[in-house]
Amino acid sequence: MAILNPRIHHTAIDGGAFQNEIQERNIMGVPAVFMNGAAFGQGRMTLSEIVNKIDTGAEQRAAQALNQRELYDVLIIGSGPAGAAAAVYSARKGIRTGLLGERFGGQVLDTVDIENYISVPKTEGAILATSLKAHVDEYDVDVIDVQSASRLIPATAPGEPHQIETAFGARLKARSLIIATGARWRNMNVPGEELYRTRGVTYCPHCDGPLFKGKRVAVIGGGNSGVEAAIDLAGLVEHVTLLEFAPAMRADAVLQAKLRSLPNVTICLNAQTLEVEGDGSKLTGLRYKDRVSDAEHRLSVAGIFVQIGLLPNTQWLEGTVERNQTGEILIDARCETSVKGIYAAGDCTCVPYKQIIIAAGEGAKASLSAFDYLIRNTPVV
Ligand SMILES: Cc1cc2nc3c(=O)[nH]c(=O)nc-3n(C[C@H](O)[C@H](O)[C@H](O)COP(=O)(O)OP(=O)(O)OC[C@H]3O[C@@H](n4cnc5c(N)ncnc54)[C@H](O)[C@@H]3O)c2cc1C
Repeated sequence: MAILNPRIHHTAIDGGAFQNEIQERNIMGVPAVFMNGAAFGQGRMTLSEIVNKIDTGAEQRAAQALNQRELYDVLIIGSGPAGAAAAVYSARKGIRTGLLGERFGGQVLDTVDIENYISVPKTEGAILATSLKAHVDEYDVDVIDVQSASRLIPATAPGEPHQIETAFGARLKARSLIIATGARWRNMNVPGEELYRTRGVTYCPHCDGPLFKGKRVAVIGGGNSGVEAAIDLAGLVEHVTLLEFAPAMRADAVLQAKLRSLPNVTICLNAQTLEVEGDGSKLTGLRYKDRVSDAEHRLSVAGIFVQIGLLPNTQWLEGTVERNQTGEILIDARCETSVKGIYAAGDCTCVPYKQIIIAAGEGAKASLSAFDYLIRNTPVV
């Protein structure tokens, strides 16, 4: 925006290099965006999100415009790798395709290095997200960005469309749907976590690790992501304490061995985090219970990296498609849900191994299944 508009000035501060600047502003998570000196946004934001935030009434105007959209053959909800692949596959069949999502790229935007997307030996999340968008833009896809689905209204009779209601009240109709709303970080759900989020509680070691250079931090979770985060952080910070709820860590043996070899790491097993503590403006530590002795302990840390897995973004589907205990949408081998004409793909489903290549493959499969459904169920006119 600053490049295009001479009345907008922008200063970027590298928190790792200018520690005094981040201390003055109490920044514990990046990117932290300030507008005219006041806090404006936290975390990665797209240009559309920023403009929407500044432009009051934008969402309501967008909702009015969405209500005018014609019936889709396929409407895809969620624009991560699964949604993007589904959109490309649908559009290539020449059917009317819509793609509604909150932020194009999904979790890929939160990823630094990606080295396991076959045929691409090494890339970065932001680059892959841009390529996903460019690929979708090659085709006739109605991309509805920075919009969130809040309700699914399944068809009540054969031949009737399914409907998606957006957070701002617009209704979109489609003959078939593909749900690809992915997943988000799981919270600890303890007192103080919400209050000190981005003020010490963080979920991304790659993004926020350098802000804790030379400080003491805790990592919650002894799975692969927790142990990887602890290894990564041990090279940057003064000391890492890893807290694992269970009697043993679940991470791969090779990662555990690496972690145990590091001199500035302490591992606490059977440790249940009870509370995140702070001084009102920033985090100062946490309280945890030893589940064997029942003794409570205090840990003085500047940062807590929560690494306890992912939760599917499916809460908005309550009472519609069937889900399992963890909220993942149940699908069959063709990505079909419990409701005819509604398909699902990627991290929001019960398919194991949450990976980009798997999400993209599932998106493609869901799309082919939806097309197959349409050719059998759309009346000949
Ligand atoms: C830090 C990190 C590092 C990772 N590293 C790798 C890696 O190196 N290699 C690898 O293969 N995988 C990696 N993954 C996993 C990979 O990113 C995911 O498996 C993949 O992105 C899943 O794709 P998806 O399309 O199913 O969901 P997502 O990427 O989660 O995309 C879903 C999209 O739907 C949107 N959405 C959610 N709810 C709604 C709604 N109600 N209405 C509209 N839109 C909605 C979300 O905002 C999001 O944009 C990593 C994940 C993380 C978090």
